[in-house]
Amino acid sequence: MQNLAIAIHGGAGTITPASMTPELEKAYKRALSHAISESFSVLEKGGTALDAVELAVVLLEDSPLFNAGRGSVFTKEGKHEMDAAIMCGKTLEAGAVAGIRSIRNPVRLTRAILEHSDHVFLSGYGAEEFARKYNIAFESEEYFYDQHRYKQWRDVRDTDIFILDHTEERKFGTVGAVARDSNGDLAAATSTGGMTNKNYNRIGDSPLIGSGTYANNKTCAISCTGHGEYFIRAVVAYDISCLMEYKGYTLQEACDEVVMNKLVKFGGEGGLIAVDGKGELALPFNSEGMYRGYRSSGKVGRVAIYKD
Ligand code: ASP
Repeated sequence: MQNLAIAIHGGAGTITPASMTPELEKAYKRALSHAISESFSVLEKGGTALDAVELAVVLLEDSPLFNAGRGSVFTKEGKHEMDAAIMCGKTLEAGAVAGIRSIRNPVRLTRAILEHSDHVFLSGYGAEEFARKYNIAFESEEYFYDQHRYKQWRDVRDTDIFILDHTEERKFGTVGAVARDSNGDLAAATSTGGMTNKNYNRIGDSPLIGSGTYANNKTCAISCTGHGEYFIRAVVAYDISCLMEYKGYTLQEACDEVVMNKLVKFGGEGGLIAVDGKGELALPFNSEGMYRGYRSSGKVGRVAIYKD
């Protein structure tokens, strides 16, 4: 057995059956299942963990259901500014972007940075210039327009309120993926539109290596979702990796300590997906729900939204 494993998320928050219609629930599950089966088959064909997480995130970015890529929320200026990161657990190479506009798949840009740049983290106009150089696809503003998200933003645009996407009546969210491939290599990727009505070029945890995204073959690969300000200050992803590396915690123990204890005491709502070197998965969250899915060698895969 090769211990192939993949897990994905589509955001965490106040997600309850009461806030969902059967059609919407089906649509979410279909989108999650599709991303899982496509990315798992990359692993089955001998593809790398990096390829698998990139593809899973591309598929979720292309869906208007999630707050990433096409479905990104509106900023205070009525625009879309996206953040994303990818990391390779074998080499510890990473690529990240913040505050980018008009890029169809921000995760593709992070991969290009990982592969072709001496830098890790690019932002705004410069990141877009880099994207042009590597033929990353751009889209017009209409591509990112979604009526529900427009309404979400219109209700708060003249205020200083900024809201986590999935605390609204309809719940959407940031997307992410983690994987272990047939060589035992790990990778993680995360992509987001951030928070509705965000201003001052606010950046969340998702593109920050060590906070929202981290991968290290020695320990684990992690992609987070939730209230970014708390995840940044708790350095969530690296904290979990450190508990494993320096304290000998298992993946599950480390995730429980950080998500269910430390973050809860801190007031940080959200969750994450994680995989370790053996292909064990953990998908903890301290919110009402988290859009999620996973599959691993020899085990039945699953997609879920609410608490078990
Ligand atoms: N963590 C993201 C941010 O704060 C939001 C989310 O996960 O939905 O930008």
